[in-house]
Amino acid sequence: MVQRQITENEGTAIETSTNEATSASVLANREGLNIKKVSHAFNGVAALQDVSFEVEAGQVVALLGPSGCGKSTLLRGIAGLLIPDRGEIKLDGRDLRRVPARGRSIGMVFQNYALFPHLTVAENIGYGLACRRMPRAKIATQVAEMLRLVRLESFAKRLPRELSGGQQQRVAVARALAVNPSALLLDEPFGALDRGLRAQVQDEFIRLQRNLGITTVMVTHDQEEAQTVADKLVVMNAGRVEQIGSPEVLYDQPASLFVNGFLGHANKFKATVTNPSSLRLAADQELQLGRELSFRPGYQLTMTARPEHLSIAPKGEKNTLDARWIRAAPLGHMLSVDLELPEGTPVKALIERNMGPRPSPGSEVGLRLDLNSVHFYPKENDQ
Ligand code: ATP
Repeated sequence: MVQRQITENEGTAIETSTNEATSASVLANREGLNIKKVSHAFNGVAALQDVSFEVEAGQVVALLGPSGCGKSTLLRGIAGLLIPDRGEIKLDGRDLRRVPARGRSIGMVFQNYALFPHLTVAENIGYGLACRRMPRAKIATQVAEMLRLVRLESFAKRLPRELSGGQQQRVAVARALAVNPSALLLDEPFGALDRGLRAQVQDEFIRLQRNLGITTVMVTHDQEEAQTVADKLVVMNAGRVEQIGSPEVLYDQPASLFVNGFLGHANKFKATVTNPSSLRLAADQELQLGRELSFRPGYQLTMTARPEHLSIAPKGEKNTLDARWIRAAPLGHMLSVDLELPEGTPVKALIERNMGPRPSPGSEVGLRLDLNSVHFYPKENDQ
């Protein structure tokens, strides 16, 4: 069941404007990508249901969601590798429905790079141009420009197997960009790289994307990557769009319990409204909210709190929850703490490392919630 957020913090989608660093002339007369009510089913099973969103010219949009939610199907629909059953896909105002894949002016980069192993870096980058029968001299100029763009000028004659993973990924991006596409589609482009290299390649990609102002859709499993690279996130669940917005809006104002738990960690507290401004949690713990909710007494809900919105207080302090300190691990200058409520609910808190004397494992503490930052959703089905 889709559970919409039911709080005064309505999750209104705010769309970030295209990066100012991209020159206006690059974006002039371009309308970006427009996906409208796209649906598709495989053997009668829906993979996409009424998916709609826009990618402004020059913007990066990340498609995020659990495995099987329809991300790749949508990307293939945009690329023309699959014709969706219903809906409209427009690129810079042009309806792509009857345009075959090779006529769509779209570059693609996949996780495994799919470079031709027997062709050199330069030949890989020039491949699409050769297919378009571009004169050799022009291909050479364009390939040199691409090599410069991805900072691989001295690697032109190498074979893919003679490159690192990060370098191969840059060749794949250069090859996709060489044909001067109107849009770029990336399917888990950095997935095969280790963490350090991934951050470096992401930075490179952002620089390149900003310079070129190319309209980009990226599929990723990695919410951190999506938040780093994208102007706008589209969170999908079971073939539908759950929420669209900037990374900050989705993190701070998740419209559903699903989005709340998908982007970052969400501690969940089952609760019953006792009066307009207080809740009773499991194990009969009462919490005064300091403001009135619009729910009637007896209403059951799920309250969520991010780990950074919890802090530790002496046991029994006013308006704190009783909790047991289980263990703590350093996370940079913060401390990641595992706690447990009396009825056994696990809770994660992120607190300052220099909090003072650290409770010993198993000891009883008070758990304080930043009640301005919590969210409320209808109760989960199992409640
Ligand atoms: P992942 O993150 O695992 O790559 P995804 O979000 O990209 O997943 P899709 O590959 O788009 O998901 O798949 C969406 C749904 O459509 C899944 O239930 C999948 O099993 C189904 N599906 C995808 N391609 C086909 C196909 N060619 N034939 C039948 N079903 C398919």
